[in-house]
Amino acid sequence: MHNKRKLILGLGIGMLLIIAYLVFLYFQPGPQKISYNEFLQAVNEGRVKRIYLQDKDILNGLYMDGTEFITDNPRKEGFKEELLKKNIEVDERSREGQLMNAGSFILTVSVFGALIYFLSNRSVKQAQSGMGKLSSISAHPEGETGVTFNDVAGIDEVKESIRDIIDFIKNPEKYVRYGARLPRGVILYGPPGTGKTLVAKAVAGEAGVPFYAVSGSDFVQIYVGVGAGRIRDLFKKARESGKCVIFIDEIDALGKKRDAGFEGGNDERDQTLNALLAEMSGFKDNQGIVVIGATNRLDVLDPALLRPGRFDRHIEVGLPDVKGRYEILKLQCKDKPLSKDVDLYAVAQQTVYFSGAKLENLLNEAAILAAKRNSGTIEPEDIDKAFYIVIAGLEKKDRSAIHTFDRRVTAFHEAGHALITRIIAPEHKVSRVTIIPSTKGAGGFSMSIPPDRMYYKKIDMENSIKIALAGRAAEEIVFGEKNITTGASNDLEKATQILMDMITRFGMGKGSGLLSYNVLFNNGIRQVEDEIIRESRDIMNSYYTAVRNILVQNKPILEAVAMALLEKETLNEYELDQIISITREEMKSSA
Ligand code: ADP
Ligand code: ZN
Repeated sequence: MHNKRKLILGLGIGMLLIIAYLVFLYFQPGPQKISYNEFLQAVNEGRVKRIYLQDKDILNGLYMDGTEFITDNPRKEGFKEELLKKNIEVDERSREGQLMNAGSFILTVSVFGALIYFLSNRSVKQAQSGMGKLSSISAHPEGETGVTFNDVAGIDEVKESIRDIIDFIKNPEKYVRYGARLPRGVILYGPPGTGKTLVAKAVAGEAGVPFYAVSGSDFVQIYVGVGAGRIRDLFKKARESGKCVIFIDEIDALGKKRDAGFEGGNDERDQTLNALLAEMSGFKDNQGIVVIGATNRLDVLDPALLRPGRFDRHIEVGLPDVKGRYEILKLQCKDKPLSKDVDLYAVAQQTVYFSGAKLENLLNEAAILAAKRNSGTIEPEDIDKAFYIVIAGLEKKDRSAIHTFDRRVTAFHEAGHALITRIIAPEHKVSRVTIIPSTKGAGGFSMSIPPDRMYYKKIDMENSIKIALAGRAAEEIVFGEKNITTGASNDLEKATQILMDMITRFGMGKGSGLLSYNVLFNNGIRQVEDEIIRESRDIMNSYYTAVRNILVQNKPILEAVAMALLEKETLNEYELDQIISITREEMKSSA
């Protein structure tokens, strides 16, 4: 009748009591830990008064003399009956229920008891279902997955970066002999559906070892200790099977960065995470077990996970570019009756920002349509229709729906960065220009600064600022001042930081001379702030104007690079240089 209200009242009071209990626990010396054999002996000698039986991996108990102990929970069938037969009290409420002053609030206690009863009932059920899941995984690891690298297409760099892991698993002794530290954990990160699970399976398949898969989300929302217990069970099973690959999908669910101010470090997730770390550092080097974790974002992971000896290898699995999509489509069409009229490369061009999974989905829909028509082959119309089914089923915020305007802006923005780099700092390597968004930011542009130098020259710093400004400058030249976008915010941050360093730390500004502003600030001299802003604004503007002028002079090249990006989405250094030199020749001959 008043169950709900009682529950709410109970919850409120329960919370208070739990807090009180935690405070109490904090000042309480911990119970003595005894081994399970010692425990059995104590039972036989009649020294045990009471057991708090819960579905946890630790069992709390009380000796006849009132002192407490903990021991491992055997979690076996009929355990309660055995205890009862020995005249031991069995209490299925949690230990916290017992530590309250029972005499004073009988009512409260009964509500609280009911609450705990509710909770423990649920926790047992949840834990049981979880255990079921785990043991089903353990009993039938997905065996030798049968998946190989031939089943993975379009992400060759990923395959390359992970290939040596396979050799580690197959021949760990070889590496041990050379004193090499074997990688224990690999993180694959990137958008959903890009083939992270597939790659992990392929690693197991190529190495010919069993594959154990769990998801980080299986470990959350269960009660304290259960998650950690499951991790230990998982690794125990894995170790028993010898060499293997353990795959943890959504690893961020259990290894997210701790919130600031929440360093207490004993909530459920922390325990699970700690158990994982402990298991991983417990491997022997020659064991041939590798743990592969997958996440959408690397930057949300707890740094503790990423340290050497843990998940110290990080491999990005990005969305495929047009060539990658073509490879994936070809692979997925292998066992489908495809009409000769289907131009798979054209399909690849239309499916910008599609992941491998989405491409698979597209072809599957097309196959269903063809089957419905009994047509014998998949025709271009089937793919067209499937395209709209897949697109319509997507959320608006999905990247596939990115407006063509955005794509064009990104293409010119990135072309600006790349072109300015080639013109003002040709010694810098531009490894790749792309308009496929990466986890690191909107467009993609990667450049490496000459590596092996101890000092940066002023000209290097100036160039870095100019390269950063080139994205915005290109946007402005092509689309007009009113249409510049927010896409440059990172660039501006970077440029400002470098400029600040030049002026305040390295004595490279005009107004400041050789004074270090940092020292001035530390001595409480603040009057110079306005001066710094004025000077940096002037310098920045002059750099921007310079960059803008270069781009205006080379606008045909800028356009050619942007067009190539729109068509191919990714350009490597060689392709970029080809386009620049060809267009330059054309400009000369037409002048
Ligand atoms: P993730 O783990 O990154 O979310 P999955 O590995 O689960 O992605 O990919 C789902 C499915 O999409 C795969 O089973 C496969 O059919 C297809 N797929 C994704 N990427 C690729 C790829 N690079 N090559 C071939 N198939 C792919
Ligand atoms: Zn940029």
